Amino acid sequence: MSVPPSERRVLFLIADTGAGHRSAANAIHHAMRMLAESPALSSPRHAIPDHRSPARTSRVYDNSGWNALIVDAFVACSRFPLRKGVSLYGPAIKHSPRLYGQFFRITNSKSRFRTAWRFAKPFLYQGLAHLLLETQPDVIVSVHPLLNHITLQVLRDLDVRVPFLTVVTDLVSIHYSWMAPGVSECVVPTEEARRFAVSNGMPAKRVHLLGMPIDPKFAQPPAGTRAMLRAELGLDPDLPTILLVGGGEGAIGLGDAAMAVGLSDMPVQMVVVCGRNKTLYTRLQQARLRFRVPTGVLGFIQNMPDLMHAADVIVTKAGPGTISEAMACGLPIVLTGAIPGQEEGNIRFVSENELGMVARTPSAVLDALRELLTPCSPRLALLRANVGRMSRPEASFDIARLILKYLPPIGSPSAWARAQRSAAARRYRPRPGHLSRQPRQGLHTLNAAFTASRGRRRTLQGGRLLAVLRARTGDRSRRIARLTDIIGARALLLRSTSLGKGQLRRIHRPRRLDEDTAPTQSDDGM
Ligand code: UDP
Repeated sequence: MSVPPSERRVLFLIADTGAGHRSAANAIHHAMRMLAESPALSSPRHAIPDHRSPARTSRVYDNSGWNALIVDAFVACSRFPLRKGVSLYGPAIKHSPRLYGQFFRITNSKSRFRTAWRFAKPFLYQGLAHLLLETQPDVIVSVHPLLNHITLQVLRDLDVRVPFLTVVTDLVSIHYSWMAPGVSECVVPTEEARRFAVSNGMPAKRVHLLGMPIDPKFAQPPAGTRAMLRAELGLDPDLPTILLVGGGEGAIGLGDAAMAVGLSDMPVQMVVVCGRNKTLYTRLQQARLRFRVPTGVLGFIQNMPDLMHAADVIVTKAGPGTISEAMACGLPIVLTGAIPGQEEGNIRFVSENELGMVARTPSAVLDALRELLTPCSPRLALLRANVGRMSRPEASFDIARLILKYLPPIGSPSAWARAQRSAAARRYRPRPGHLSRQPRQGLHTLNAAFTASRGRRRTLQGGRLLAVLRARTGDRSRRIARLTDIIGARALLLRSTSLGKGQLRRIHRPRRLDEDTAPTQSDDGM
């Protein structure tokens, strides 16, 4: 069965815990689009080792005829209580970062992660299976650690061999859940992350040190001088400019640092990006009336590259996305703290490589800024040189090329079509020794359902899908049923058909890939 070019599909699995995962997926997708639009970019700057079959290795990918879908798998596919649990990430890192850190540490080993995941899996497995059946991707890219093992499990149960790549979006404090044996490729951003992956069972040939995916706009030379960019943003062109950020959630010391700078007498101006933290946004909008430093307070913004190019220094929590973006813009970094567990290693990364300064208290922030913003500051010059040297601004392009290599050539059957064919072959030519076994009803029913739904883009009958998954998963489904019985959630599991349909309808409305889920707040005269 030939697959029309427009059917080739890359599925990015993300979760909007913070904003880094969506930013990374958007960045890779943007790089893929740019590769398609300008063929000159298609020759890799860094050679990407390729260990697959010579036939596929020698294929020249044409960068066209694909489309991409970015899906928050927890919003689209999971159910209560997992869905609710994941949505608590924002409040947890704002109000109880230590508690979150405990959770990170407790689950950060092979056995403990497995135990935790065994409890969580029933609340995501079926929705994810719906998503994969409905979208039939040719390549899946996971940009979130909690989606790797389960996606591989669903693909194994469905017996469909879709290339599955993980892009690790933590710099050095890597959670064990990132390491999923069986992935086609695992992309890591730093040497520490590469070592962690290899020492935790990932085959070295599948681990690629390509850098952190950041939007190509961060690496592009700005359209003018800093003064010109400031003027365009409505800022004073001649005043040193501090950018304050706390990740997508506006967390970890952002409010205190903004208050300290605002009430100081430094000859500077500042822009505070509160992200999705509406409480902080409102508080700072009121407080800035008392500030002596000219201040712009913003909500969740889409033009971070413009602000980074216009600023002299950034004050931020140790978010891997923000650190990597600041490095690409040649911006020295002042770190106010880190999300316990997952970002603590980034503080060491920044201080050991002399990319910035660590200032955990408001007075330390002021000291650091005074040192960096004195005219001709030697420290500022040193930090700028170091961030420029360590940055990997082309990472998104390298990752995009790796993904594009996995798209099946135009006209060749997709993994889903191959799965259908092989299921048919198994059914009509049973191998000796398999005759006594039950026919593979599961996949056969599944394929019939595929065929029935093809073209009409209709979701599968939930009951039938459940039967298919039960047949495919055997004992596992019995264990799941037992668990759901115990916690009284069986009814939810059986009702999930209608839930799944509603979610899939939402998935089917393709998003503009540069848009974000967060409400954009007013930009207060910037
Ligand atoms: N970001 C953004 N707009 C905002 C706040 C943040 O686009 O208003 C982006 C930022 O550029 C970065 C990501 O959100 O790409 C934050 O990622 P990071 O890893 O620093 O922190 P997280 O939010 O994931 O904790």
